[in-house]
Amino acid sequence: MSIQKCKDCKQIFAPVRKEKKCPDCRRKENEKFKLVRDYLWENPGATIEEVHQDTEVEKKLIREFVKQGRFEQMGELELTIDCDRCGVPISSGRFCKSCRDALQDSFNKAKSKLKKKPKEKKGAGMFTRERREKR
Ligand SMILES: [Zn+2]
Ligand SMILES: [Zn+2]
Repeated sequence: MSIQKCKDCKQIFAPVRKEKKCPDCRRKENEKFKLVRDYLWENPGATIEEVHQDTEVEKKLIREFVKQGRFEQMGELELTIDCDRCGVPISSGRFCKSCRDALQDSFNKAKSKLKKKPKEKKGAGMFTRERREKR
């Protein structure tokens, strides 16, 4: 069994599924998530700054929630984070669509350099991987 040091409180714990935070911190985080979510229900279109000021949840954490796509099912949400590559606002994940395409493209090129194989269904693998990350 592996152990993990909690990203937040540095406590050692045994992760069940590769969690980076201990159960305590995750529970606290969940409470904060609910705060943010409730706030957004009442204030659709709020920015990260506004959410932070009214809920006192750390901006970093709010961004993390956005990144994980946890607000996506909420419809008209305007919370955005920046694309890791070009800085364009996005609503989940790490990269905007064009950067994802570009990255996928160079990845495919690098791959085809390694071994020449007929092209597989383009992008299919990436799509499923993305789906999984959202869980
Ligand atoms: Zn912790
Ligand atoms: Zn981008």
